[in-house]
Amino acid sequence: MLLRRLEARLAHVRSMKPPGVADAADIQAEFTRAALDVPRPPRVERFPLPRERVREKLRAGTPLLHGEPVVVDVQHAAELYSRLRRVVAAMHLSTSPVQSALIAPRQVVEAARDWDAPGDPGRLFGEAFVQHREHLREMAVHAAADPDEIVALSILAVGPSLRAYARAIGPLVPTGDAAWTRGYCPICGAWPLLGELVESQQARRLRCGACGWGWAALPNACPYCGNAGATAMRAPRPVDDATPTVHVCERCRGFLKLVTAREPAPAELLGFEDAATADVDAEATQHGYRRPAGAGFTLELSIPESEWAEDLASLD
Ligand SMILES: [Zn+2]
Ligand SMILES: [Zn+2]
Repeated sequence: MLLRRLEARLAHVRSMKPPGVADAADIQAEFTRAALDVPRPPRVERFPLPRERVREKLRAGTPLLHGEPVVVDVQHAAELYSRLRRVVAAMHLSTSPVQSALIAPRQVVEAARDWDAPGDPGRLFGEAFVQHREHLREMAVHAAADPDEIVALSILAVGPSLRAYARAIGPLVPTGDAAWTRGYCPICGAWPLLGELVESQQARRLRCGACGWGWAALPNACPYCGNAGATAMRAPRPVDDATPTVHVCERCRGFLKLVTAREPAPAELLGFEDAATADVDAEATQHGYRRPAGAGFTLELSIPESEWAEDLASLD
């Protein structure tokens, strides 16, 4: 179902968009297929989140996962990571004829199948889950690996886990406009990847770039700096059906793509939809607007009690 939808969207993008954007969409489609192909869903370990704590956190602007004993499914992330590395290795083969002549394709695939991410996978995917990009870069540099690749792939590898936790605890966020008034995600603290104007709901919703959750956007307010007022955001290009509107903020110079959709995009396909409109980003960047780096709220997790127990046991 998701795969069919992805292939249909990819065919549409290939026929409509310039080659550079089609290439970006192709790569993102490969990553999306890899995530959909992992044989089992990631494990989600439940933890108590009483209604009163949910209310307090939302009122204080604290994402629901913050400070909670979340267990990241490291095995699932490692499996997806090695699949993503195979995608990257295959792309290198097609772009570098010299490399492909020297190394048999089979060997490249075999090499990528071995675990070769830097350091301890538990720490790598723990840092990726909380989106601490600087820590991931440090781990990559320490292991003499390519920081950009490590950051991108490890964050992609924990995507299914983040989405699974968002699905599990997201329904605790009340749907009313006043329940969450921040620009970052109420589940994980990441900035929105894009905004959606869903026709059936007649409301603007922001969609998280990390966990895929959607929440109501304050009308005419910048999600990044809170700059409010009808004149704060404007559309620098004419609106048509196929292209997202770009909303920009003159105070923080941030921009947000806003797409009109019949229904919300599945969380699994948000990365693809973002890549498929990369030309819009390029135009906004040319005009001096940007997406903020990092997250809106720096997430930290507490150590689950089971791990404390293991630590204490290892002291004996
Ligand atoms: Zn999120
Ligand atoms: Zn702003």
